[in-house]
Amino acid sequence: MNLLAQVRPCVVAMDGYAPGEQPRDGQPIIKLNTNENPFGPPQPVIEALHAAINDALRLYPEPSSREVRQAAAAAFGLDADQVVVGNGSDDLLTLLMRTFIAVGDGVAAPDPSYTLYPVLTQLQEGLFHAVPWQNQLDLPIEGLLASGAKLILIARPNAPTGHAVPLEQVAQLCAATTAIVVLDEAYVDFADDNGLPLMARYENLVITRSFSKSLSLAGLRIGLGFLPTVLAQQMHKVRDSYNLDRLAQVAAVAVLRHLDLFQPTIQAIRTERRYLTSGLRQRGFQVPESQANFVLATVPAGRRGGRDWCNDLKNLNILVRYFGHDPRLSDKLRITIATHADGLRLLEAIDLLMENN
Ligand SMILES: *Cc1c(COP(=O)(O)O)cnc(C)c1O
Repeated sequence: MNLLAQVRPCVVAMDGYAPGEQPRDGQPIIKLNTNENPFGPPQPVIEALHAAINDALRLYPEPSSREVRQAAAAAFGLDADQVVVGNGSDDLLTLLMRTFIAVGDGVAAPDPSYTLYPVLTQLQEGLFHAVPWQNQLDLPIEGLLASGAKLILIARPNAPTGHAVPLEQVAQLCAATTAIVVLDEAYVDFADDNGLPLMARYENLVITRSFSKSLSLAGLRIGLGFLPTVLAQQMHKVRDSYNLDRLAQVAAVAVLRHLDLFQPTIQAIRTERRYLTSGLRQRGFQVPESQANFVLATVPAGRRGGRDWCNDLKNLNILVRYFGHDPRLSDKLRITIATHADGLRLLEAIDLLMENN
């Protein structure tokens, strides 16, 4: 029996998203491959979680994550009805696709960008348009418009390049289209500015935020979507009824009430970003300025290519991310900014490899 004949052809045909390697907990590994935060969540978040481990866990969570939406609205100057909560911001991206994209509809994004976007589009049987960044760094406004896409996804700061397109270009795009423009702000807390003020000016702008990077909770899966109330109402129909569990809701509220406690670690990561950028440059890597908690480093010319660097560092128990499937990225490593000590260990490992050739 050919069981695969029963599977949707678009699923059989696709590769699926390839997440970065997650070693077992407790391994002596310096993990610079998935942009997690090197610092754990602050004490009030941990305490709120402990307090929530009780008999109430037998009950379903509040379906719409109401308290999270209220806390987010208070923190970001929105109405709670303009907030949708997701099981990670990846869940919000899925919900956006399922809300807006029917078979054959277009989805566009500058390229290269987050590799989940084409995967989610394929699952909807939509058409994905990868539009190259203009002059490497600018928003390719004309190309995005010409694609005719209904949904345009812009990661800002972008992964894996780390750059943030000028907000003015995002504004220009929003003004020039009726398509929904999604600003994926998973890394925005590490950047100099964010797109939230634009929401008041453009009805077609949707913003997504993640608790996985700057907010140290990748393990709990929490994301926020900010969008006009009429659209939020539609998205709620598409969600899993209980898409955020009780513990995640409790943690999310605690985080949103203590956002100030994250500022020191965010600042520390920005400082380490400068330090690692210059350390890598001194060793012959090309490292453009990053607005995120990672850098995209081009390896020095020589015998050791991008894949070799990735493997050799792995043998020294340091994981970095390598995107070998994309020829434009095959000489590059994406390296998460971690603690000062781990940054030093990375630079020492690079020195060691260069000495041994
Ligand atoms: C990490 C990441 C996300 C997903 O974040 P989660 O909240 O962990 O699902 C979304 N977009 C981009 C660009 C990311 O790098």
